[in-house]
Amino acid sequence: MKILRHTDADWKQTLTNLDRRAEASDAVREVVSSVVKAVRERGDAALIEFTAKFDGATLTSETLRVSQEEIDAAWNAATPELRSALEASHRNVFAFSRKSMRQDWHGTNEQGAEVGEVYHPFERVGCYVPGGTAPLVSTAIMTVTLAAAAGVPEIVVCTPCGRDGKVNPGLLAALKLAGATEVYKVGGAQAIAALAYGTQTIQPVAKIVGPGNSYVVEAKRQCLGAVSIDLLPGPSEVLILADKSGDPRFIAADILAQAEHGKDSQAGFITDDVALLDAVVAEVDRQCQTLTRQDQLKPVLEKGVFLILTSTLEEGARLVNAYAPEHLSLITEREGDILPLIRTAGAIFLGNHSPVAVGDFVAGPSHTLPTGGAGKSFPGLTVDMFQRRTSIIRLSRESCAKSEPIVRAFAEVEGLDAHGRSVSIRGE
Ligand code: NAD
Repeated sequence: MKILRHTDADWKQTLTNLDRRAEASDAVREVVSSVVKAVRERGDAALIEFTAKFDGATLTSETLRVSQEEIDAAWNAATPELRSALEASHRNVFAFSRKSMRQDWHGTNEQGAEVGEVYHPFERVGCYVPGGTAPLVSTAIMTVTLAAAAGVPEIVVCTPCGRDGKVNPGLLAALKLAGATEVYKVGGAQAIAALAYGTQTIQPVAKIVGPGNSYVVEAKRQCLGAVSIDLLPGPSEVLILADKSGDPRFIAADILAQAEHGKDSQAGFITDDVALLDAVVAEVDRQCQTLTRQDQLKPVLEKGVFLILTSTLEEGARLVNAYAPEHLSLITEREGDILPLIRTAGAIFLGNHSPVAVGDFVAGPSHTLPTGGAGKSFPGLTVDMFQRRTSIIRLSRESCAKSEPIVRAFAEVEGLDAHGRSVSIRGE
């Protein structure tokens, strides 16, 4: 683990390094661009070829789609424990989503015109559910449920299959509960390209949502325009900002849980309390010895975990904003002072008893959150991202007449006299 202190000679550089931009490397960009091109040109054939190359599975156009029988069988075969966990998570996420839906509204403007907004669900959306390193059963709930809550009729899911050409049955059970209407065994950039441009088997969608590795995220960026996207949710990360009230056992447990996400994940701990810093270092070491995946955890701890000692908690909050973490855990006796300073975190977990893992699986807000610094420009996934907004305008003869001098003034300065005429003619 890297330890950085405000007293270090290169402290200024540390602060600069934390200010990230969510951009892919040239190598990832090039691979993704060739994958997207191949899928646009060769459709299913390219999907089958990339699935063999990256996922080691042999598929045909006929087996790209998971059959409804297989999905139903997965639900029927799920253990009562899994079903009840899926249902508990689904209830919270659905209820949270329904609360944050946008509503139509109608009013009048200063000239008496009726103005308003109406919302309709997108007709057909694509949800990407990652599956490269682990079948992200929770991501099925955290994306598809929102689309269903918004009333989207066609919810298409793409997820990588295993070498046996099968999708994890726990994931299929979650997809059934959440309301997916089509499931394809395609992952990576090729899945995003298929959803954006369509192939012989997969019809294109209007919008693609969901997290993935750097290839998936870059593909979403490259397909923007052909489709809309939600945000850029890439490799997972957590930042913990705590004062002396933080419990080192809980903080260490959250750092290790984050390290478990895989080799690209990052965890940072920022504190103004040197005793807590030392206690967390010792706890991470102690708890790591007790975990089964120590061999996978150790390289992540070395490369992806950093601890920072700041002079004040306010300085810590500035670092948080520069870094824009996907998850922020904020543990302080001064929550009233520090929380309002945080402006870029995807989700904020407050206090010693709010582990990020509860947000990952069950709390209610979607766990699909911006990473890599994208939190400066994007919020996390919400139900209204599945609602398409249209504005409505209706003028009476009177409100049209009241608008006319304003339109005329604009038309004159922009040199567009037909615009002015289209309004004045209605009052003649
Ligand atoms: P994934 O499904 O995103 O990616 C697997 C696919 O990547 C494969 O099917 C393959 O097609 C492609 N791929 C792998 N190596 C490749 C290569 N060398 N060249 C081209 N394509 C390649 O699954 P994953 O890899 O496990 O990644 C999931 C990611 O999603 C993790 O980093 C996790 O942290 C992240 N995640 C983020 C959030 C969020 O909200 N930000 C939520 C859940 C998961």
